[in-house]
Amino acid sequence: MRPETACIHAGYEPGNGGARALPVYQSTTFTFDSTEHVGALFDLTAGDAFYTRLGNPTVDAVEKKIAALEGGVGALCTSSGQAASMLSILNIAQAGDHILCSSAIYGGTFNLFGVTLKKLGIEVTFIDEDASLEELQALVQPNTKAVFGETIANPALTVLDIEKMAQLAHSNGIPLIVDNTFATPILCRPFDFGADIIVHSTTKYMDGHAVQMGGVIVDSGKFDWGASGKFPGLTEPDASYHGLRYTEAFGEAAYITKARVQLMRDMGTCQTPMGAFLLDLGLQTLPLRIRQHSKNALTVAEYLEQQPDVEFINYPGLASDKYHALAEKYLPEGTAGVISFSIKGGRDRAAKFIDSLKLVSLEVHVADIHSCILHPATATHRQLTDEQLVACGITPGLVRLSVGLENVEDILDDIKQAFAAIAE
Ligand SMILES: *Cc1c(COP(=O)(O)O)cnc(C)c1O
Repeated sequence: MRPETACIHAGYEPGNGGARALPVYQSTTFTFDSTEHVGALFDLTAGDAFYTRLGNPTVDAVEKKIAALEGGVGALCTSSGQAASMLSILNIAQAGDHILCSSAIYGGTFNLFGVTLKKLGIEVTFIDEDASLEELQALVQPNTKAVFGETIANPALTVLDIEKMAQLAHSNGIPLIVDNTFATPILCRPFDFGADIIVHSTTKYMDGHAVQMGGVIVDSGKFDWGASGKFPGLTEPDASYHGLRYTEAFGEAAYITKARVQLMRDMGTCQTPMGAFLLDLGLQTLPLRIRQHSKNALTVAEYLEQQPDVEFINYPGLASDKYHALAEKYLPEGTAGVISFSIKGGRDRAAKFIDSLKLVSLEVHVADIHSCILHPATATHRQLTDEQLVACGITPGLVRLSVGLENVEDILDDIKQAFAAIAE
């Protein structure tokens, strides 16, 4: 199936007289007619859903759809994007291990990796993703277990050179994990460029309507967990399943099966059946939406670039952008809806610009059908001085604009009147 077809049909096929729409199995549990069958479930030799924390037919259908879209062997839905990022690492790293992570990542991931994983004994080195392979290689340690980056970084809007990062990871016998939230599998399929594991916050474009939190981990099935001897959690016996070895029992699906039957069992950050149903509604129209977001955002970016009040703009779809060449390679159909730009005159003028907008709403969110905007200097980064802001790569006048699916002329009219208001 091509992506547009898979978005509608993959993962669920009604039988004769079956429901056309994906049914919601709003049940925590399932019944069986023999103790022998239930025993097989606990031995992992039977695969039916038996308890919704570990599996549910509605959630399962959506996982199959997302795995098909990314070209993976399996997927695991989670309660949020944060849970997906956390489990993606904990599935292969433990106290004493080390991760390399791009410094151009989502703030929540930065805190999770830099503070919380550190407390668990996993050290993370944040790297400049634009550095050369030689420079990056020098940062790899014997205990490094993964390389992590975002296809299009939120909010830096850098574009990851996935092939370079895959080469770095593979030459050291470790996997590349890519957060593909902003691109979605419609604009980029990181597995096609060598990534091994993909995570998403489905809260963003995949849901697309700002109704349901969620995340997902997708396994390419291509990484050889046994080759380097660095992943005993996958290759050595698991005491909590009487000595089962994931690579031996599940082959190419070893990573995603372990994430489910071990980590989801123990940590419980699962998606709900109703949440998966809402996510599925979003996925059905994802190709139409993400292409239109990209189109609207490019129109807005081209307008903003010409404005005398705009100090600089970051949008990889712009021909003048530093990441345009990488975007042409990895995101030939468009670069999604998020733009950042800096308004001349600093904090106060940027705040007045935002306060003057009428259609574009002020929100701590991005990547859904509504246009919205945020000013880091008065919101997420308000404790920082102007000098500290600049050190984080954020100017006092920087705003993050998520271009929605309204008529682009209405979005432009709103931006124009806000520029007129700050010119007074
Ligand atoms: C929002 C976001 C996350 C975190 O997802 P939640 O669903 O909010 O937990 C992770 N990565 C990226 C790129 C994001 O934009």
